[in-house]
Amino acid sequence: MKVLKFGGSSVGSSGNIKLVSQIIGDYINKGERLAVVTSAMMGVTNDLVKVGNMAAVDDENYKQLSDQIISRHIEAIKSLINIKSQSSMIAQLKFLTNNLEDLLHGVFLLKELSPRTLDLVLSFGERFASMIISAYLNQLGISTEWLDMRQLIKTNNNFGNAKVIEEASFDNIQRYFEIHHKLQIATGFIGSTLKGETTTLGRGGSDYTAALIGAALDAVEIEIWTDVDGVMTTDPKKVRNAFPQPTLSYIEAMEM
Ligand code: ASP
Ligand code: MG
Repeated sequence: MKVLKFGGSSVGSSGNIKLVSQIIGDYINKGERLAVVTSAMMGVTNDLVKVGNMAAVDDENYKQLSDQIISRHIEAIKSLINIKSQSSMIAQLKFLTNNLEDLLHGVFLLKELSPRTLDLVLSFGERFASMIISAYLNQLGISTEWLDMRQLIKTNNNFGNAKVIEEASFDNIQRYFEIHHKLQIATGFIGSTLKGETTTLGRGGSDYTAALIGAALDAVEIEIWTDVDGVMTTDPKKVRNAFPQPTLSYIEAMEM
């Protein structure tokens, strides 16, 4: 078992989703057993934070930004999915986006965005992206299932940066993967409390999701695909002499 994680830039456009799908297809052709974890499309998590805050301060323009976020995903569907399946995919997406719009309307009416509500708002980014990638791979003939990791990763209720309950989560992941043999396209970054409330694992948390799946399933490798080579010692956008770490253990990945 290998866990492949694709960051926001890797799934940031339909072109990049095609490249990612090629990478996945190559592994599948080699007979490799995989699990795939994806972030939200590039910029979407930031936009969701922004749209939530705009709604909370009574800024009517939040609707424009929310429309923009939604249409970005619809455009991705239109360029990736065959005409004959497009409308059913868009209907599936609409089911989720209606929930997001209702939620934002609630924030707008209440003029309040609690960390707990924000986590639910943010969860849509990973759910949209994984749903689209899963459908696209199915269309390519790579049979996949869309996996909402909120059902497997259990956390405390420290919304925004929830602590994972490892034992319960590992157990859930192991049991799930024992009976689901199709390629799983999993949401990064999100989990849920024991009561089922949506939580997030902290910004950049999709790597952590991949590390959790890798550790639970004793994967031979987790590959973090992004627009930099490997896991850098520090943020290469801020520090010029950042360099990729030659090796990284699951424990280190989970800590990061
Ligand atoms: N989408 C989330 C973020 O931007 C999680 C991730 O990308 O790892 O922080
Ligand atoms: Mg991201």
